[in-house]
Amino acid sequence: MNEFKTAKEIVSAVNALATGTVERVELEVGELSQVNAMHIVERLKKLAAWHVRAVQCPGKVHCPNCQFEGRPKMLDRHRDELAFTCPECLHKPDIVYGNGIKIKKIEYKKTG
Ligand SMILES: [Zn+2]
Repeated sequence: MNEFKTAKEIVSAVNALATGTVERVELEVGELSQVNAMHIVERLKKLAAWHVRAVQCPGKVHCPNCQFEGRPKMLDRHRDELAFTCPECLHKPDIVYGNGIKIKKIEYKKTG
């Protein structure tokens, strides 16, 4: 459900940015976002006639407890809850980067 909503938001965002007929869209999906890049691509295929490429990018966190900064330790994902911790002290870190989806590139159909 979350992915369906996200896919719709991406379609709106791309349409708002587009200055021509969209042919290809490249997305960057943060590993700390609640969505799976593959699932997003599947959803988007049903909503739009674009070629979609989604690249999962590593997340970055900052731990307020031990000042660790870098990639968190990922735990098993639960249905609606993303679980990751500081790899040094196992506290819950703050997300610095990688909890969203970015539209990296939009390519257009050539006309004429
Ligand atoms: Zn820590």
